[in-house]
Amino acid sequence: MRHFAITILIFAVAQLCAAQTKAPAAISASTPVEIAIRAGKVLDVRTGKYAADQIIWIEGDRIKAVGSAIDMSSKIPQGAKTIDLSNYTVLPGLIDCHTHLTMTPRDSGPFGLHASYPRQALTGARNARVTLEAGFTTVRNVGASGYSDIALRDAINAGDVPGPRMLASGPPLSITGGHGDENFLGPQFDWSSDGVADGVEGVQKKVREDIKYGADVIKFMATGGVLSEGDNPALAQYSPEEMKAIVDTAHSLGRKVAAHAHGATGIKLAVLAGVDSIEHGSYINDEDIALMKERGTYLVPTVYLEDWLIENVNALGLTPNMIEKAKKLLPIAQQNLAHAFKSGVKVALGTDAAVYPHGLNGHEFGKMVDMGLPPLAAIQAGTVNAADLLGWSDRVGTLEPGKFADIVAVEGDPVANVHLLENVSFVMKGGEVIKGAGASR
Ligand SMILES: [Zn+2]
Repeated sequence: MRHFAITILIFAVAQLCAAQTKAPAAISASTPVEIAIRAGKVLDVRTGKYAADQIIWIEGDRIKAVGSAIDMSSKIPQGAKTIDLSNYTVLPGLIDCHTHLTMTPRDSGPFGLHASYPRQALTGARNARVTLEAGFTTVRNVGASGYSDIALRDAINAGDVPGPRMLASGPPLSITGGHGDENFLGPQFDWSSDGVADGVEGVQKKVREDIKYGADVIKFMATGGVLSEGDNPALAQYSPEEMKAIVDTAHSLGRKVAAHAHGATGIKLAVLAGVDSIEHGSYINDEDIALMKERGTYLVPTVYLEDWLIENVNALGLTPNMIEKAKKLLPIAQQNLAHAFKSGVKVALGTDAAVYPHGLNGHEFGKMVDMGLPPLAAIQAGTVNAADLLGWSDRVGTLEPGKFADIVAVEGDPVANVHLLENVSFVMKGGEVIKGAGASR
């Protein structure tokens, strides 16, 4: 099966190369493009304060300066391209810390068995574009098969396909039969998913293998899940020793760790093992919250998916077992996470896009606010906090000199109405206009 997949992959790559008609961009030593964005208002996502009549000066792919139009006008070089966003509010490009770009809502059930790794990579190319157009200029992709996410990241970085900046995990680690394994197939198929690893030595080797093949971040399943067959989201998967081995191995090789965790015990064990973020956190309790606050562990709550999934749960080809788990767990998760929001635990925005259609990522802001997170805190979760969790505070998350020119704009006041972030009017990534005024696509 694996050889077959590789053959298909080689064939797909050959086809892509043959179809490539555009000549690669010539390497030149010419000066970088200069752009001046005239912004009606700029939101400082750290403070929530607005500054009116601003100019954002961009050189190449980076922000060179931000300041009032009066001060900046004389500094902008002749010949700089001007983009007029004087009727808009400008803020940093949005960040989603939990995506699965190479997957779709129908892949969770048995239908997903049909998708080859090359098909998943191509699905990712489509979803990367859609996600970027929705204003998410950076994503952390936490789980994909066959290193299709690594291939996608590399294709985006090479300029072959449009998409957000990506940190990618490769196959998520899972116990045999756990949330990250493929549990539909009988024993005669002798198949385990590529992230499956058991025992301290087994998980150490798997983390090293993921890193060998390009993982920027390590993802593991600390509990069972909803959209997997036969396992229980309330129960921990992996022993404390295995979790510690995963985290220590990843950290020693300079990678952060994201733990999928629904059940309270699994959350606790993962936090004690030293993970950087808890994904989902459905059964989070006061003990978990206290530990996370003490250790500075981020919560990535993935809440909007609950609304979408409950509405569409019967149309996705899921098994009765999955549907039952979703209906039981999701309402409880909303209550527990609303409680966690009040406690002041650090929150970074993550959507689990793939459970619902990609491109709806911006709905996460409104849902978090509906559940009690203050609007500015929700915006911070999707910008400056997310950048901190990713370890990318030096390059994304705020509009400051030296950072990538990753910028979105909306008509109106996003702090007063976070729903504006569901449909941004303008998107720029690294100085390139993706959507709105000045877009070349
Ligand atoms: Zn996920």
